[in-house]
Amino acid sequence: MSFKELGLSQALLNAIERKGYEIPSPIQEKCIPVVLEGKDVLASAQTGTGKTAGFALPMLQRLSQESQKHNRPVRALILTPTRELAAQVLEDVNDFGKAVDMRAAVIFGGVSQVPQVKAIRNGVDVLVATPGRLLDLVDQRLLSLSNVEILVLDEADRMLDMGFLRDIKRILALLPSKRQNLLFSATFSKDIRKLAESFLNHPVTVSATPENTTVEKIVQRTIRVDKDRKTSLTIKLIAEGNWQQVLVFTRTKHGANRLSEKLQIANISSAAIHGNKTQNARTAALAGFKTGKIRVLVATDIAARGLDIPLLPHVINFELPNIPEDYVHRIGRTGRAGASGEAISLVGGDEVDYVKAIEKLLGEQFKKDIIPGYEPVDPETAPEKKQQGQRPPRKPNPNGNPRNKKSGGGGNKSGAGAGNKSGGGSGGNSKWKGRR
Ligand code: AMP
Repeated sequence: MSFKELGLSQALLNAIERKGYEIPSPIQEKCIPVVLEGKDVLASAQTGTGKTAGFALPMLQRLSQESQKHNRPVRALILTPTRELAAQVLEDVNDFGKAVDMRAAVIFGGVSQVPQVKAIRNGVDVLVATPGRLLDLVDQRLLSLSNVEILVLDEADRMLDMGFLRDIKRILALLPSKRQNLLFSATFSKDIRKLAESFLNHPVTVSATPENTTVEKIVQRTIRVDKDRKTSLTIKLIAEGNWQQVLVFTRTKHGANRLSEKLQIANISSAAIHGNKTQNARTAALAGFKTGKIRVLVATDIAARGLDIPLLPHVINFELPNIPEDYVHRIGRTGRAGASGEAISLVGGDEVDYVKAIEKLLGEQFKKDIIPGYEPVDPETAPEKKQQGQRPPRKPNPNGNPRNKKSGGGGNKSGAGAGNKSGGGSGGNSKWKGRR
């Protein structure tokens, strides 16, 4: 299947070629024709599958086919959970949009609104936005959404995890009722389905992970290790494996800072990114990581959301997420765009139940390794000692995190598929490749 066969215009085909994409990814193959027909779409796809072009290309084609209004009101709105994802989506939309004379802009919080307002005043066809700043500008009457024809909810599951449901509902109420809606989500909890039902109109369901394709697997390993030895084990794995580009997840901002400092002391260049960092600091850290100046990026789940790091070979879960779906998102950073990768989880004694919850969601058992010299001595961590009737593992406190409720039992086919497979099911021989 070629991009040409999907019904895209010559101008867009040229832009695709300039971008270096040779053949469509599976999600693009399925999404582009349906969006071109003007239908609503419910797509199961995570970052790394090529979903952005999957909605941006047909959306731009549709917009460009209709007569241009001279003041360029916002006709397509793309909502994303994070600033990083918004910035990346804008980059793709701009790369393609220029070819069909479509203007795009991005708005998100944490930075001055002045240039954003100026861009809107100059006229933009496509607006990429995070919900908070969008509503802020609407409330200040600096932005109108009354001409929106196409709405994209990107990474909808993450938006709900981040507590954006109320904002999303407010935004939906501001849009004209006659419009095309596209919803992308990596996982499908009950809440996501409820949201989808509330505004999608007879959607076509598409998935990036068809069950009948052979795909390369992300190698997933768990290593049992005592909590207080995780830092030194992380340093050992990175140094001895000579890993040059590693994304490490911690559960807390504080933990991210602490680990990043320890890595630097061990002579491994590193930066932490999390919600307390300024936008500039996050952008600089990500740029440094992409160019190879920074070897290890230590991130919290929310900060890492939407990072576009193709061909990332190593992900370490320094701590397990207490929401199983977050694991799916984390390991979605490995083996991007069809390449393979390795995801290692360091499992402390109090995290055994988290592993079980993730295994249940994915429907598979992980290999449980122990590294010589790092054998767990904490009776909670050492599996064989537990069997001898020692202290049972502490249960993660189900009330400790209110989000647990939301994701509880949210396991589903698409989540499991996404977690098992690399690059979103692009086929074992990874026919489509990342551009970098
Ligand atoms: P996305 O899932 O949209 O974040 O895309 C993941 C990565 O794949 C990005 O670096 C894209 O530029 C790249 N990409 C998207 N579609 C294609 C394609 N058809 N061929 C090669 N690379 C692609």
